[in-house]
Amino acid sequence: MSNKTGKLFIISGPSGVGKGTLREIALKKFQNLVYSISCTTRKPREGEQDGVQYRFISHEKFEEYIQKNLFLEYAHVHSGFYGTLKQDVINALNAGQNVLLEIDVQGALQVLEKMPEAILIFVVPPSLEVLEQRLINRHTEGPEELKIRLANARKELALKDQYKYVLVNDDLEKAAEELKKIFENEQ
Ligand code: ADP
Ligand code: 5GP
Repeated sequence: MSNKTGKLFIISGPSGVGKGTLREIALKKFQNLVYSISCTTRKPREGEQDGVQYRFISHEKFEEYIQKNLFLEYAHVHSGFYGTLKQDVINALNAGQNVLLEIDVQGALQVLEKMPEAILIFVVPPSLEVLEQRLINRHTEGPEELKIRLANARKELALKDQYKYVLVNDDLEKAAEELKKIFENEQ
């Protein structure tokens, strides 16, 4: 255990921009970085496992966690509720680990209010057309959900200036390299 408190990194960006992909790379590459697994009411996608990508919980459970004040932040995003458990983050930071949250803009701004030292990174696509194509190619959302996510993308992108870093995910390797520089810069 270290005496030093870890740093809190937050990645946001529109659905399909590559946050999850960059997160996986970061977790493999960067030492002493842990991911806080969020709670969500959305249904698991094919291949997703409870406790790995998310803690998949019912609306009732989510409501209970809100009442018990267990969330550091939570928000309604696209078609479900998503939230970060306070205790997970605090424990890891106190143990000297750097923590990565991959959460939406509403959640990131809630965390920033409580923890102004949090480092906010916003991932942008090279264009909205590329974003749409990535979402379509991922084959995880039906046409209605796709529409919702693309409409929200415009709203989310409008808030990117609230973030300390804006990272363009065009070439994946370059974006991963940029992300590495941000982490190094903040250590
Ligand atoms: P998010 O987590 O932001 O919703 P994902 O990480 O799931 O996005 O990425 C959406 C899709 O785009 C995935 O199929 C992923 O493999 C692909 N992708 C991610 N980054 C790039 C990139 N730089 N170039 C091309 N495709 C990418
Ligand atoms: P997805 O359904 O594609 O996994 O995630 C949808 C959106 O929810 C993404 O923008 C993702 O960053 C966001 N999200 C995931 N977990 C959390 C969380 O704990 N809190 C908030 N506010 N947003 C989250």
